[in-house]
Amino acid sequence: MPEYAPITAEIRARIAAIPGLILIEDPETLETFGKDKTPGAFHRPELVVEATEADQIQELLRLANDCRFPVIPRGLGTGLAGGAIPIRGGVVLSLARMNRIIAIEPRNMIAVVEPGVRNLDLKNAVREHGLCYPPDPASNDACSIGGNAATNAGGPACVKYGTTRDYILGLEAVLPSGELIDVGVRTRKGVVGYDMTRLLVGSEGTLGVITKLIVRLLPDPAAVTTLVALFPKLGPAMETITTILMRGYMPSTLEFMDSRCLELVGDILPFAGVKEAGAMLLIESDGAPETIRREIAAIRGICLEGGAGDALVAPDAEKRKQMWDVRRAISLRIEEAHPLDIQEDIVVPLGRIAEFVGCLPAYEAAHGVRIYAFGHAGDGNIHLSVTAGSPDARKAAETAVCKIVRKVIAMGGTMSGEHGVGIAKQPFLPLELSPENIRLQRAIKLLFDPNLILNPGKLFA
Ligand SMILES: Cc1cc2nc3c(=O)[nH]c(=O)nc-3n(C[C@H](O)[C@H](O)[C@H](O)COP(=O)(O)OP(=O)(O)OC[C@H]3O[C@@H](n4cnc5c(N)ncnc54)[C@H](O)[C@@H]3O)c2cc1C
Repeated sequence: MPEYAPITAEIRARIAAIPGLILIEDPETLETFGKDKTPGAFHRPELVVEATEADQIQELLRLANDCRFPVIPRGLGTGLAGGAIPIRGGVVLSLARMNRIIAIEPRNMIAVVEPGVRNLDLKNAVREHGLCYPPDPASNDACSIGGNAATNAGGPACVKYGTTRDYILGLEAVLPSGELIDVGVRTRKGVVGYDMTRLLVGSEGTLGVITKLIVRLLPDPAAVTTLVALFPKLGPAMETITTILMRGYMPSTLEFMDSRCLELVGDILPFAGVKEAGAMLLIESDGAPETIRREIAAIRGICLEGGAGDALVAPDAEKRKQMWDVRRAISLRIEEAHPLDIQEDIVVPLGRIAEFVGCLPAYEAAHGVRIYAFGHAGDGNIHLSVTAGSPDARKAAETAVCKIVRKVIAMGGTMSGEHGVGIAKQPFLPLELSPENIRLQRAIKLLFDPNLILNPGKLFA
C-alpha cells in the first residue's frame, strides 16, 4: 500500500480551485460521510466534495495522481460492505448531486441517467411511459443508480429479471487517470471489443467513477399478485422454492423469512398466524392479469402440497405494500435488537438451499450466536445476520461467519450475491478466488490505477 499525502492547506486550496466543485468541511457532516450502512464500520474523511459535472471529477483525479491522495466515490451511502468508507483517509467524492434523469427514450426503451439518481425515482419516472426498470434493491428509496451499478445490486426481482448488470447497456466513467471514457452501447445488443461495461459494473468504485449510465427498460407489467405462504418449518419452505422453479414457474419475487425474523417483525405483520409460523414465503407473479391469476393459483397449490399450513393471496395493493414494508424492515429490526450483528449475503446453488439452512442451528450451537435467515431464496441468495447479545462476542461470531463462508464455497456457492466485497469480505477473497484469478484482477486494477488513488483498501488493493 503506498504512502498517501494528507490533505494539506495547499492541496485543499487546489481542490477548492476546481470550478463548481462543492467542498464540505464541517465536522458533523464529515462524520456522516465516514460511514455507510455497514454495522460498525467508520473512518472519517479529511474532506468531502460534491461534484455536479464530470469535468470536475476529471480535474480532481488528475490532482489526486499529482499529489497522491485517495479519492473515494460515494453514491447515497447505503452500502453494506463498507465500499464507500475512506479507510485510508483522503477525499470522499459524493455523486449525490449528479441526479438528473437526462433522457427517457420510450421508442428505444432506454433511459440515460446521472449516477446520483435514486433507484425509486428512475422506476417512477419510466413507469409514466409504460416502462419498467426492474433492478429493485430493498433499499431502493435510498440508494443511487451509480451505487447500484458499482455494486451490481440485486433485489427481490432478480429471480425473474436478473441483476443491475443486465440493465446497464453502456456508461460514461472518469478513469483514475482523469480520462473520460464512454463504453458499451445504446442498443439492445453489441459485441464489439471486450465488455468494458461489465468490467466497470460491480467494480465497487475501484476502476473508475461512473458519471452517466444508459439503462435498458422493459414494458411495465400490467398486473402483479402477491402470495404469502406460511410453513411450520423452514426446510419444507425451502424445498418448495426448488419445486416451484422445477415445475416451470418463474415468479417475479420468491422471498423467505425464517421464524426468528417473523418473531421480530410480528407486530407489523398484516396477517394473523404469521408470527407463529416456522417460515414464510413471499411470492409474486407479474404479467397479464389472467396469466398471473393462473400462475399464482398453481404456485399456491405447490405450497400447500409442500407442507404450507396456509397460503393467502394479498387482497389489495395496500396489503401488498404492508407485506413489503415488513420485508424491508427486517434488517433494521435485527440491527436494533442485537448489539452485535454481522450481515452476510451468501448464495448457494438453487437445489441446495434447504440443505444449507438445515446446517445453521449447528453453527449457532457451536459458536453461541443467533442466526437470522431471510432474503432472495428464489435465486439462492440468503441474507444471514449472525448476531450476539454483546459486542464482546465478536470473535466467536466472526469464527462462525468464516465457517459458514467456507461451507457455502464448498457447496459450490459464493460469499456475496449483491452487497459486494468492500472491506467487509476482503479477508475471505482467497477462499473463493484462485491465486491466478487474484493476480489477474490485481493487474487489472494496476492498469487502471497505477498509483492506487481510487478507493484504496477495497477489493484487491
Ligand atoms: C435496508 C437495506 C437494504 C438493502 N437491500 C439491498 C438489496 O436488496 N440488494 C442489494 O444489492 N443491496 C442492498 N442493500 C445495499 C445497498 O443499498 C446497495 O449496495 C446499493 O447499490 C448501494 O448504493 P449507494 O448509492 O448507497 O452506494 P454507496 O453505498 O454510496 O456506495 C457503494 C459502492 O459503490 C461505489 N460507488 C457509488 N457510486 C459510484 C459511482 N458513481 N461510480 C463509481 N463507484 C461508485 C462506492 O465507492 C462503494 O464502493 C441494502 C442496504 C440497506 C441499508
